[in-house]
Amino acid sequence: MSFTLQNTLTVLLVLTTLGGGAFIWWQDKQHNEAVTALEGTIDEKNSELVLRESVINELSKQLEMTSEELNDTVDRLSGEKERNDEMEDQVRELAGTVSDLDKLSKTDKELLQKYSKVYFLNEHYIPESLREIDDEWKYSEDSEHQLHSKVLPFFEKMMEDALDDGVELWVTSAFRSFDYQSQIKDSYTITYGSGANAFSADQGFSEHQLGTTIDFTTRGLNGGLSGFQTTPAYQWLLDNAHKYGFTLSYPEGNTYYVFEPWHWRFVGEELAKDLNSDDVHFYDWEQRTIDQYLLHIFD
Ligand SMILES: [Zn+2]
Repeated sequence: MSFTLQNTLTVLLVLTTLGGGAFIWWQDKQHNEAVTALEGTIDEKNSELVLRESVINELSKQLEMTSEELNDTVDRLSGEKERNDEMEDQVRELAGTVSDLDKLSKTDKELLQKYSKVYFLNEHYIPESLREIDDEWKYSEDSEHQLHSKVLPFFEKMMEDALDDGVELWVTSAFRSFDYQSQIKDSYTITYGSGANAFSADQGFSEHQLGTTIDFTTRGLNGGLSGFQTTPAYQWLLDNAHKYGFTLSYPEGNTYYVFEPWHWRFVGEELAKDLNSDDVHFYDWEQRTIDQYLLHIFD
């Protein structure tokens, strides 16, 4: 019995020992397998990371290219904008030139023409539009005196300012048609014979036919012209008429015509002022110099 028990105990001990060893081995094996699996996963993740990194590199390269292209595009666009701006300027300039040319083509060239005994305004010429001068500016209210409609505002401003300065100016003659002038000349010719040209001469007549020219009288002359150069009205015109675009066509001592202190022609503010500041007269300048003022004659 005791032998059997002892044997049995021994067998149990051996079995227990064997069992424990087997368990440890199994446990060890399980652990190793887990480690291997984990290592595999890590490898997998690593290669995934490498792949992502290369994708990122690729993408950032593409981005770089894209931003370069963007910069190029921005450069190209700003270059194009500059060209467009330049083009716009040229178009605007051209449009200005065209509108100037258009304006010039619609402006009567005769308005700044110099007349002489050889160059004379055509007998069929009539101004583009005439308007009756207000009675208060006429010497005789019964008379009809017409002026170029675009000259009228300049004329009226001058007359009002003269009056404000206490200067009395009255119109005795403005627009004269060719026919009317012929009648005057005929009557002069009858009265004075061949000397008529000295009174009713061709050069001054052309300016009246334009509708831009006025003969003035003032207090103390009984409506006449003679002696006008001694009056305050004449002095006022000498000092101020250019501000309103009027100029004395035939000044004292000139070489191109007789002295006509009462005879004032509208040539535009720009030209009248320039003549005044240069201390010269309309007929002193070359026609081509005067022509440059035509565009702005009514500005
Ligand atoms: Zn006159």
